Amino acid sequence: MRRLNKALLLASGLSLGLGIGGHASVTKLCNGFLPPNEMKIPVGDHSHIGKSKNAAGITEAQYNAIMDRIQKLYADVVKAKGGKLVINRLWSDATVNSSAEQQGTNWVINMYGGIARHPDITVEGEALVACHEMGHHLGGAPKISSPFGGGAWATNEGGADYFATLKCLREFFAQDDNGTILPSMTIDPLAKKDCAAQFADVGDQNICMRISKSAESVSYLFQDLSQQTTRPKFDTPDTTEVARTNDDHPATQCRMDTYFGGSLCPVAVSAQLSDTDFKQGSCVQGTDPVGFRSRCWFQPEPQGGGTGGGTCPLGDQSLCDIICQQFPQLPFCSK
Ligand SMILES: [Zn+2]
Repeated sequence: MRRLNKALLLASGLSLGLGIGGHASVTKLCNGFLPPNEMKIPVGDHSHIGKSKNAAGITEAQYNAIMDRIQKLYADVVKAKGGKLVINRLWSDATVNSSAEQQGTNWVINMYGGIARHPDITVEGEALVACHEMGHHLGGAPKISSPFGGGAWATNEGGADYFATLKCLREFFAQDDNGTILPSMTIDPLAKKDCAAQFADVGDQNICMRISKSAESVSYLFQDLSQQTTRPKFDTPDTTEVARTNDDHPATQCRMDTYFGGSLCPVAVSAQLSDTDFKQGSCVQGTDPVGFRSRCWFQPEPQGGGTGGGTCPLGDQSLCDIICQQFPQLPFCSK
């Protein structure tokens, strides 16, 4: 009986974090694009050099154009799911990061100007950052499997990265004349070859190559922030395979691999992702030769926590079983 009481108490706590049972106005977790860091880039600061030649961050006008397009792309999508998309345009904020949160029915992304002013960030990179934050809201499984952190509403970090290049950037860049834009860019030879192999349509190939520039921009930012000497590249994938899904920010090369994978998956943008079945709307290892979620952060087997849920966060499966009878929609209840 004490066990049951404990489980119900825990379940009641969980409901606060998930907006179940009339606590819809509770503020929930923020998920940064980057791990917490001390870098600040105020407006007008040109002291940061970065690794990319010819790059100096983006302008305020470019930043606003990106946010306008994200707002147009996703306002109705969020509305259809019962939310209201709120993009906080924090251009003057020096923080080198971004985040997502849900406050009641407001689905918020916080887009700080500091990251947009980093020299490694291009228009392509900033669009990826915004798409990553949308991915926390819309990226489906796998969700963050740590309800006590209040983040169970959110797609995990690797999943948000995957959503960015699998879905969001494709729609974003589809509005551009990529045939005119791409000739001024140097496209990585492997990205060029794989984009051509995966997509028959030239327009789709161009979008795929444009996404490779997004992946390079933010991966070079990761390298700069973590002061790594090894340059992340498309042809040096992270070959580690996790035993359990990592909900946190993957390592630099691993994140680049995820972006590349998403860009190469030929599943249609219109194929919906699912909050409970990671296979829907995406590429799957064993079925698709490329384009699936990278194994350096994702474990697709149920016992590895990759089915969109994850393992019991309480360290006691019998407690989780009791909670799951009451709240089967909790992420760790899907097997
Ligand atoms: Zn994130």
